[in-house]
Amino acid sequence: MTDKASAPLALHLDSAALRANWQWLAKASGNARCAAAIKANGYGLGAVEVLHHLKAAGCRDFFVATWQEAAEVLPNLGEASLSVLHGVREEDMADALGSKARPVLNSAAQVARWKAVGGGACDVMIDTGMNRLGLDPREASADLLDGLTIETLLSHLACADEDHPLNTAQLAAFRDLAARIPARRYSIANSAGILLGADYAFDLTRPGLALYGGIARPEAAGHIAQVVRPRAQILQRRQLRAGESIGYGATFVADAPREVAILNIGYADGYLRGFSGRGGALLDGRRLPLLGRVSMDLVAIDVSDAPDLSDCDWLEIEYDLSTAAVQSGLSQYELLTTMGRRYARVWR
Ligand SMILES: *Cc1c(COP(=O)(O)O)cnc(C)c1O
Repeated sequence: MTDKASAPLALHLDSAALRANWQWLAKASGNARCAAAIKANGYGLGAVEVLHHLKAAGCRDFFVATWQEAAEVLPNLGEASLSVLHGVREEDMADALGSKARPVLNSAAQVARWKAVGGGACDVMIDTGMNRLGLDPREASADLLDGLTIETLLSHLACADEDHPLNTAQLAAFRDLAARIPARRYSIANSAGILLGADYAFDLTRPGLALYGGIARPEAAGHIAQVVRPRAQILQRRQLRAGESIGYGATFVADAPREVAILNIGYADGYLRGFSGRGGALLDGRRLPLLGRVSMDLVAIDVSDAPDLSDCDWLEIEYDLSTAAVQSGLSQYELLTTMGRRYARVWR
């Protein structure tokens, strides 16, 4: 945000890529509407800005995890719909009643709580095999759900990013539920679920990861564009003599003279230690390797082949999500959601 405009590290966020990713996923959703999961502060990018750009692309349905997250985006919601995935606790009632956002009711206790206060339209999550949030299908009887106005009946896929027998089992279970529980619309697919094919689309799809540049399944490669590009400023350029080491643990020892740039980014910025000796920076399409360990606030990059780079210049950090996941051992979700507060988030 603007108060961090002069921060020594930045996230360049590509709004055109974000919109294009949504449009591709909307098309892949066929006749179903395509929503957007913007929980966890829009997967780290900034929920309000993501909402703004996706509304401009045509998205009209949004999902957050908690009422606290809902409060942040509600003033900017306009005519779009917002669902709160974690449902309603007692503590949420004041926020939930009369809100433009709907709770996603996940348990008999949440259903009872919502009925007791005469809450309005809601969504309902049914568990079809993940055993995380959601009503057990055996609980989801007419008795329990009677009297609810269900806008969207949801379930969530546990293994959509793999070819796993649970996918078709969950699909079959959800079809049964859709046939017996009345709702205005039905929804089971996350990003990876969309890529499993038209059978999974129902009335509404709910991508998150792929909007932000994640490759949820191999089918998406080449169609989903990178949205997030971290950039870090060079704080110091130095020369390393043969035999000298860099950083904590002295894990990198130069076999020949090297030139090194010390950048303002580290594991406190979500650039975790898994990138030690594996990550890199990008300069005009060239890759400059990271040397030694990632520190809390700093990394070292080999700039021997970039003689013009100096202190105060900026470098892009290699962060296309599939490559960065392999380098770091983190999931693409973690790479997005751990990016932290110190970046200036710059939309373009
Ligand atoms: C987070 C979430 C999504 C989005 O999942 P992605 O894998 O990021 O596409 C969809 N539905 C529910 C219930 C979620 O919690």
